[in-house]
Amino acid sequence: MMTDILSLSIKELEELLKSKGEPAYRARQIFQWMYRGVTDFADMKNLPAALRAKLAEDCVVCSPEILAEQVSAKDGTRKYLFGLSDGNAVETVLMRYRYGWSVCVSSQAGCRMGCRFCASTVKGLARSLTAGEILAQVITINRLLAEEGSAEGGEPARISHIVVMGTGEPFDNYENLARFIELASAKEGLGLSRRSITVSTCGIVPMIERFGDEYPQVNLAISLHAATDEKRSALMPVNRKYPVAEVIEAAKNHASKTGRRVTFEYALTAGKNDTEADLKALTGLLKGMLCHVNLIPLNKVDGTGLETSGRKRAEEFRDLLEKAGIPATVRRELGSDIDAACGQLRLRKGEGV
Ligand code: SAH
Repeated sequence: MMTDILSLSIKELEELLKSKGEPAYRARQIFQWMYRGVTDFADMKNLPAALRAKLAEDCVVCSPEILAEQVSAKDGTRKYLFGLSDGNAVETVLMRYRYGWSVCVSSQAGCRMGCRFCASTVKGLARSLTAGEILAQVITINRLLAEEGSAEGGEPARISHIVVMGTGEPFDNYENLARFIELASAKEGLGLSRRSITVSTCGIVPMIERFGDEYPQVNLAISLHAATDEKRSALMPVNRKYPVAEVIEAAKNHASKTGRRVTFEYALTAGKNDTEADLKALTGLLKGMLCHVNLIPLNKVDGTGLETSGRKRAEEFRDLLEKAGIPATVRRELGSDIDAACGQLRLRKGEGV
């Protein structure tokens, strides 16, 4: 059995080294290499050759293979398809914002939530990712950015924000997600502020509660997509287990517990959730709550039979929500020319399950 040491905390790596008769301070050196994107022990030059050889016997540093890269000609958004050691593949998207570089990571290969509009769930769940596999998506892209930066002679760019909004349901993989957040925010790890990390869930209520207790600084986004049980269950099977009222109550508790606003994602889908009645239901649900609605013009996924309501309707929805006192924005359609919607590249390449 090989141990992926990228999934370990510095304390755990210290213990592992001690068990091999090595001094604990080597852990810090190895961390510096790993978080710079070095995955081959042979390249960790300040380690003695004997230790490098010993580590290679039963340890690895997760190193995804870049199977595909797409760059948007419109806005520079990049999408990567990363191959994992067992042949599965996941997508990661890099976006440039005014405030810096943001990466959208996958938490599972595939998904078992079955949302009707989503490409990631079409073939079901292959498996959950380890913390190291989630982290490696960020580290690999940081390494690519650093290489480009030094080639151009400028200051290398670095990822400053992470959204866990790629393929998979993060709360269906809670332990590894939690470990990932610990490593991403540890100072000897990626050293990011927890406030610059966002986790998006389809609404698994007990996990929303746990997450708020354990990670109150991390931003929470909830995929709502409809305001009545009838309509939400038709789009999102998870609603049959955790209906709208429970999701909203969990969101309200979260906002009061953390003092932070919850984001609701709402993908506007022609005839399914975009009528005046839908707007009224949504307004009634969210009035007075510490929240924000992120309206997304649906990205069309072949075979779903669902169509976008269009950007104009999204803008109308935003204006009407704002009028009702509910903060709302229309998500920029970054990477619309490169299959940047969840799971589309993976599906097209036929990777995974
Ligand atoms: N499982 C998590 C995170 C992954 S999905 C969740 O459900 O939140 C990230 C976001 O993209 C969710 O809001 C999801 O509903 C949305 N999404 C998925 N497919 C989409 C599509 N075809 N068009 C627009 N948004 C989509």
